Amino acid sequence: MTLTLHRTVAEFRRAAEAVRSTGKRLGLVPTMGALHAGHLSLVAEARSRAAEVALTIFVNPTQFGPNEDFARYPRTLERDLELCREAGVAHVFAPEAREMYPEGERTRVHVDGLTAALCGPHRPNHFDGVTTIVSKLFAVSGECVAVFGRKDYQQLKVIERMTRDLLLPIEIVGLPTLRDADGLALSSRNAYLSAEERERALSIPRALSAAVSAFAAGERRIARLKQAALGELGAGGLRLDYATLADPDELLPLPEGGSGGERLLFAVAGFVGKTRLIDNVVLGEDPAPIASQKKLEQGSLP
Ligand code: AMP
Repeated sequence: MTLTLHRTVAEFRRAAEAVRSTGKRLGLVPTMGALHAGHLSLVAEARSRAAEVALTIFVNPTQFGPNEDFARYPRTLERDLELCREAGVAHVFAPEAREMYPEGERTRVHVDGLTAALCGPHRPNHFDGVTTIVSKLFAVSGECVAVFGRKDYQQLKVIERMTRDLLLPIEIVGLPTLRDADGLALSSRNAYLSAEERERALSIPRALSAAVSAFAAGERRIARLKQAALGELGAGGLRLDYATLADPDELLPLPEGGSGGERLLFAVAGFVGKTRLIDNVVLGEDPAPIASQKKLEQGSLP
């Protein structure tokens, strides 16, 4: 399948309509580019659910804070197009900012409640930027199946709720986090990490894995689950924004003194040097990011 690059809203809208006009389903994969295998897993899923896949590349200014990495965020369009060609993407929509935010625009989309905890307080206006751009992308794509990663768990929940609340004709699909062999979640921001920082970043999948092990061993006390993880995070010397156990649907943090149920979100955000990384597992649902050392040792016994 040949790939078409669309630079304007009008072009991409026409292309999406053309797909539907022949009775075919459109798959949509919104990204900020600097594509990696995690993005490509979303493309593969979209291809399995739709006849033609469109991937969008837009580094959305309104979801970055004033002291965040908007200016230095990796922009690798030529390579991204090549990866999209190889992955069987039919359409790439890579607009300029003025296409998505026309002169004089005054509108933001806000989802209440789900944006209050976790990344919300640490990145004021971030989710309004996300929901605004994603609703614009949906407005241009029209009816489709849109695929997102659970790596950005809170973002996925916020987008699901926005889509439902605004009655948008979009099916939302969430996919598991793709990780490197050592357990680190793939992220475009990993490109910022020095070798030493990348090593320290591994404390995140280690911490999540420690929580998964404790949970699997029957631990349900919030303080204990957190304790299991904080030891690992401390060892990595991360500057933590948060390490929070929360209800996996409403994203309400659970009190330290209490206990959790059979599904629990454990989400972590922190800085390794200047790079902010996020990761999460749903305890009771997701596998450990790193297979436990004990298991490996046992497995290697004669
Ligand atoms: P981004 O380009 O970082 O905005 O991400 C675009 C989409 O890819 C979002 O739906 C992310 O959740 C998803 N994504 C990013 N990293 C991963 C990963 N390691 N595994 C699966 N999906 C991912």
